[in-house]
Amino acid sequence: MIANNRRWNLIAFCLVATFALVLAACTEGDDRFSLEGLTMGTSYQIQLLEIPGEAEPGVLADKVQTILFRLDREIFSTYARDSELSRLNNHAVGTPFAVSREMLDVLMLADTVFSSTSGAFDPTVGPLVNLWGFGPKMNLTEVSIPHTKDVEEALSRVGFEHLVIDEARSEVVKTRDVMIDLSAIAKGYAVDQIGCLLDEQGSDSYFIEIGGELKIKGVKADGSSWVPAIEAPNDRAFEVYEIFSNLGQSIAVAGSGDYRNYFEVDGVRYSHEIDPRTGKPVSHYLAAAYVIADSVALADALATAYMVMGEELAFAHAEERGIAVFLIARKGDAFTERISSAFKPYLGDQ
Ligand code: ADP
Ligand code: MG
Repeated sequence: MIANNRRWNLIAFCLVATFALVLAACTEGDDRFSLEGLTMGTSYQIQLLEIPGEAEPGVLADKVQTILFRLDREIFSTYARDSELSRLNNHAVGTPFAVSREMLDVLMLADTVFSSTSGAFDPTVGPLVNLWGFGPKMNLTEVSIPHTKDVEEALSRVGFEHLVIDEARSEVVKTRDVMIDLSAIAKGYAVDQIGCLLDEQGSDSYFIEIGGELKIKGVKADGSSWVPAIEAPNDRAFEVYEIFSNLGQSIAVAGSGDYRNYFEVDGVRYSHEIDPRTGKPVSHYLAAAYVIADSVALADALATAYMVMGEELAFAHAEERGIAVFLIARKGDAFTERISSAFKPYLGDQ
């Protein structure tokens, strides 16, 4: 068995390294702010070219950390037994559960992506994620292929339609004993929330990254665009596959891949993206999907959905809706790429 549970830190690191190289070109003595740490089971990095307005660096750092603590530990954690998500998962079927504004936001967006992707994105995959060994007790060196009857039992509890969301009352009701896992959208949402904070503070140029999900705003000190990198989808040391540009805009980017969190048995790769229709990890040749969208939460959810859908369906979905996606497929030892029309402009201006 081959196991690989390195997170997306390498791409994040390299993206920041790219950013750092860019920063190195800035004039001496500029008023930079950078903050890094751990959240949501991964790392985060925030870089600002300038501390906005009157903001104090220490106060800004506290505000960022307060948001991250709330979103991770208090709301979306599948690890913390008393997080809002764990309490919802343990809540009785058929009785209303009052949700926070953040949980409501994420569940409503999840519902939209669930519908638009015909269920490829489905946060009720929780029992399957645990069964295949990618849950809170993840230890990919001791994973085995589950029995078919256990997969079927877990599948009987999967289906986002079993969660009824009442937006007006800010309540949800489970109509079946579903177990929700928001790992494929919560990091993106957290990046969006940090982006809102920095926008409110008046920042017009920043880089925010949590576990490889990014929001980039504005231009560098010399007026040119940021240039993030897409990582080659292999489990070796970081290699740049492609670079693109934010065109000086505010952009939200997220990626999903089969090459950081997976295990292999008898030459078959089992990745942490699970097909909610079959109950099994995806096994087709799409290796990575990078999405640029209006919010990082949306890009995050779509990137996961695209990994489940596979190259053809994902590409068609993106083209029909004008979504910017960069897909990388594995063909033997080589890679091929499919780039939707909406992504192409970001590849032009480097
Ligand atoms: P990463 O965490 O590496 O950015 P993703 O955003 O694709 O990757 O999230 C993968 C996680 O999402 C899995 O570990 C699992 O917890 C959850 N997940 C797996 N399959 C699905 C799915 N089809 N729909 C929603 N969430 C999923
Ligand atoms: Mg995702």
